[in-house]
Amino acid sequence: MSRLLKIILIPHKHTSKFKNADRLHFDIVLLLSKKSMNILEFFELFPNEESCRAYFRLVREKEGVVCKKCGEDRHWWLKAKWQWQCSSCNFRTTLRSGTMMESSNLPLMIWFKAMALMSFSKKGISACELSRQLGGKRYETVWSLMHKIRKGMGNRDSRYRLADMMEFDEGYFVTETSKKEHQETKAGRGSNRVQNVAVLAESTPLEDLKTGKVSRHCRYFKMKVFEDHAAEGVDQFLQESIYDKSIVFSDQSTSYVNIADYVDVHISEKSSEETTTQTLKWVHIAISNAKRTLLGIYHKIKGKYLQLYLDEFCYKLNRRYFGEKLFDRLVIAISDNYRYDCE
Ligand SMILES: [Zn+2]
Repeated sequence: MSRLLKIILIPHKHTSKFKNADRLHFDIVLLLSKKSMNILEFFELFPNEESCRAYFRLVREKEGVVCKKCGEDRHWWLKAKWQWQCSSCNFRTTLRSGTMMESSNLPLMIWFKAMALMSFSKKGISACELSRQLGGKRYETVWSLMHKIRKGMGNRDSRYRLADMMEFDEGYFVTETSKKEHQETKAGRGSNRVQNVAVLAESTPLEDLKTGKVSRHCRYFKMKVFEDHAAEGVDQFLQESIYDKSIVFSDQSTSYVNIADYVDVHISEKSSEETTTQTLKWVHIAISNAKRTLLGIYHKIKGKYLQLYLDEFCYKLNRRYFGEKLFDRLVIAISDNYRYDCE
């Protein structure tokens, strides 16, 4: 039985007010089944706060509202209060409770517009540009909103592990030092630091039956900022990110000595032009695309926020064929986080 069916809905009264609500509900159900929308349809479907709230409620019910207190997933909907009440312990869950929106005072419509503009822009959008698009909302508010959305993206991807064959390597990203780092290292103001980013790419070799030529096809990616080059960090990242039946290709770094202990096969090759263009082709393409995207849009990134920008990059990369469905998926990511939140 789907989780949606477990939610006990109280039927609306047929007053003129609720006729509008029913029509809205109908549009939203259509949207849920269509799961694809462009920016014009977005503004048509979400003209006000009420429409965003109604959609967010439906998404949460479809994904399953879980009681924070007892873990029950069957709820009553308290129409007058816009809250769910646990059918087991009567604990109430508000519309935003337990989601990335929980501590935010911003209207849902601002969240929705930010998520739409972040999903519809293929590469990404700067906080400055988004603040302009949101009618001059304060830069700091928009910047923090975008980071919460990125965090939701990262949380969602952290639920999935990569499988089968994969490429693993590290890339080096230049970031700006924070004020604290600047004081600790006595580095010059605005000085740069090189940060190490581990990258995993699911990569399957496919042979062309006519020519016999083998090429590698990629699926999902993961990126993680490392504080150092120690083998412990590599081991922890890989164990959290992949299934133990995997086959991992990498170069011959000394930090990779333990990989064979926890995967099916570990194949390491000495770094060469061939490993860059063949064996580790997709990780290198992902690293250079990430650098280009981050540099192109955000110019300078502080080290402590690099992971969030990479989370957004990977989230979009992993859903590169979703097209206009990306917004719907993002609302789900934002709505469903407390069981997986890493904070
Ligand atoms: Zn409960």
